[in-house]
Amino acid sequence: PAPSRPRRLAVLGATGSIGVSSLRVAAEHPDKYAVAALAGATNVTLLAEQAAAFRPPVLAVLTDERADALRKLLPAGYAPDILVGPEGYAALAALPEADVVVSAIVGAAGLLPTLAAVAAGKVVALANKESLVLAGDLIRETARRTGAVILPVDSEHNALFQALGGAGLPDLALVERLVLTASGGPFRTRQTDELAAVTPAMALNHPTWAMGPKISVDSATLMNKGLEVIEACRLYGLPVSMVDVVVHPQSIVHSLAQLHDGSLLAHLGPPDMRVAIAYCLGYPERLPLAVPRVDLVTLGSLTFEAPRHDAFPCLGLARDALAAGASHTVVLNAANEVAVALFLQGSLPFMGIASAIADALAAHAGEALPDADSIMDLDARARRRALETAKRA
Ligand code: NAD
Ligand code: MG
Repeated sequence: PAPSRPRRLAVLGATGSIGVSSLRVAAEHPDKYAVAALAGATNVTLLAEQAAAFRPPVLAVLTDERADALRKLLPAGYAPDILVGPEGYAALAALPEADVVVSAIVGAAGLLPTLAAVAAGKVVALANKESLVLAGDLIRETARRTGAVILPVDSEHNALFQALGGAGLPDLALVERLVLTASGGPFRTRQTDELAAVTPAMALNHPTWAMGPKISVDSATLMNKGLEVIEACRLYGLPVSMVDVVVHPQSIVHSLAQLHDGSLLAHLGPPDMRVAIAYCLGYPERLPLAVPRVDLVTLGSLTFEAPRHDAFPCLGLARDALAAGASHTVVLNAANEVAVALFLQGSLPFMGIASAIADALAAHAGEALPDADSIMDLDARARRRALETAKRA
């Protein structure tokens, strides 16, 4: 048979941790992948380097100023279209020239481009877990209507997807519960009273994964695992009671599914996001990948322990929000994004993140969210409120 043409990728958040890893996977198989479009926000130097290497016909950045700066950095004779702002990202996500959209913008800013990709019926390699936390039902319904395929990049969900055999998770009826593994983050063994004084630099120093700043802080508070419990329930339509969390500091077992005969199906691998990304980009094919191999004898042991809810209340807050309803998870996410940004600026203590979220949830009565506009509106209101409350504190 004739060799198939390369799969064309559009990468949102190309300049971030997941974006860079995605392009490393694509570069390893130039015969299999071509890059149709790259979107970044502010780092035009890196975006220009990536664009020069892959020559996509379409780029996107956050502002007109950045677009001008980017254009000046591109090599002579290469003049791609440069789209701008949220509308530009959404247009890029729906480009007819793209087969697979990597959704790797951080935070709620990833929702509208993710929805645009799903509405356009794309294969979506979804790293932006916040979009499922904000609008999981809408994304699932839209995908059902358009035939879009959502492939989870998040390592835990990717592990479950691999363990359970792919797209429709055909064995879901056999699943008793899902067990998400958590590294425990940099403060896993700290005394609870020591956490008051931890700094952003300490929170950013993750023991097993190298990631962007927001998700690194989320890992330190365990909010990342809370968002992932919501992500799992929204991806597979499961109640929160079916998703457990276990702390596994070595980050080798990436999650497990417990079946109704007592079997545990797990996925193991190195703590390198390229494994999950490559699985999504190649799906259903598996391409070889040059990542470090796990040496079990060197590791010696894999350990598991319960999460410490006293020290890390964010995990419980996320479970409560999920049980309370869809609008509560929007408020949870908005308060968390505001609080994490304040913590990174040095204007909120570490434990203030959980308090800010608890406060936001306590003040929220619940509301109907029929569409993306109402979700983005609640997101904006919850952010304003969280910011005002933090200023008064
Ligand atoms: P990052 O901070 O390294 O990169 C974020 C990317 O988003 C950058 O390209 C940035 O330019 C872009 N961006 C930021 N704000 C934007 C905006 N307003 N509009 C458009 N683009 C914007 O983050 P990351 O670690 O790569 O994480 C990206 C997403 O993937 C997050 O949702 C995160 O939870 C998820 N994720 C990351 C990892 C990981 O290992 N890094 C693992 C699992 C899931
Ligand atoms: Mg994860």
